[in-house]
Amino acid sequence: MKRDIKSLSFDELNSEILALGLPRFRSGQIYEWLHKYGVSSFEEMTNLSKDLRKRLAEAYFISDCRIEQKYVSGLDETVKYLFKLYDGEYIESVVMKYKYGYTICVSSQVGCKMGCTFCASTLAGFKRNLEAGEIESQLHCAQKDLNIRISHIVLMGIGEPLDNYENVIKFLHNVNNENGLNISMRNITLSTCGIVPRIYDLMNEELPITLTISLHAPNDLIRSRTMPVNHKWGIDAVIKACREYINKTNRRVSFEYTLINNVNDTFECAKELSDRLHGMLCHVNLIPVNDVAERGNIRSSEENIYRFADVLKNNGINATIRRTLGSDINASCGQLRRKRNEVK
Ligand code: SAH
Repeated sequence: MKRDIKSLSFDELNSEILALGLPRFRSGQIYEWLHKYGVSSFEEMTNLSKDLRKRLAEAYFISDCRIEQKYVSGLDETVKYLFKLYDGEYIESVVMKYKYGYTICVSSQVGCKMGCTFCASTLAGFKRNLEAGEIESQLHCAQKDLNIRISHIVLMGIGEPLDNYENVIKFLHNVNNENGLNISMRNITLSTCGIVPRIYDLMNEELPITLTISLHAPNDLIRSRTMPVNHKWGIDAVIKACREYINKTNRRVSFEYTLINNVNDTFECAKELSDRLHGMLCHVNLIPVNDVAERGNIRSSEENIYRFADVLKNNGINATIRRTLGSDINASCGQLRRKRNEVK
């Protein structure tokens, strides 16, 4: 069976190229075509001989994704893609324009196993992990389509990145490589629902990325109601891992906190959260919940959102309320794949 050449790290590619009896400089050339230019066929590798391109095409394929649907927000230029993969599965990515450049939100899995009750990604079921090359292809595809350079990545699309650990780490190294997209690790954010052992693994990789935790509750009682993962790793274990992560990496950790009316947005919740995060080098991102029709969660009132933020700030916790982008195109991930699977 053919293997995906785009999902190899530089070292892996290099050993395969040497094993084929080719000179070392070929690895650099091929790596650039794959990761810097994002080609989707060996034919495009024009500085390789026809014979070499043929040999490569016999042994490997290049993972890719195709635009199935594209939505452009009329409000803020946010673009959302539904991509089709080689096996007919769908994933989603969102490109957002900020003052400092373009950010892409990428998917890391086809579906998700985590089962958070407010999230659309779980609804259509878990199918498989994405290969490193498939995660990266979302960037190449969007860059070419929009004729832009993406400078920032958030792993906040469909899937749980720490449940696809090896491929995600390989993806991070490939997009960071200076012969590839050359995106600084400091411009990359990885979001997790809190798979504690993997947070420690990530800490030991010593990558200067930003770690974000989807916390969404100040205690186990509330968190377990919406996030099944909390039964396995409770809040204490998650926060302890974060404190160690901060100590070791000196990087600020972010917490995502989706505000759901009367579920987790009370004064008491805000106070309890402040106590838990006391003294931590951290930041809390407050997100008014996006209505996902099937989920029936109701967004907190403006009043509750501002009160929550004020309580945190008065207790010395850095907090901001997330601005909603692309609200006219269902830009939160999982919603398009869900719809597509319904009509299939
Ligand atoms: N599995 C990872 C990556 C997904 S990130 C994680 O849990 O962090 C997607 C972010 O959007 C998470 O913080 C998730 O909790 C949040 N989210 C999911 N559904 C949402 C909704 N309906 N409204 C607002 N935020 C939501």
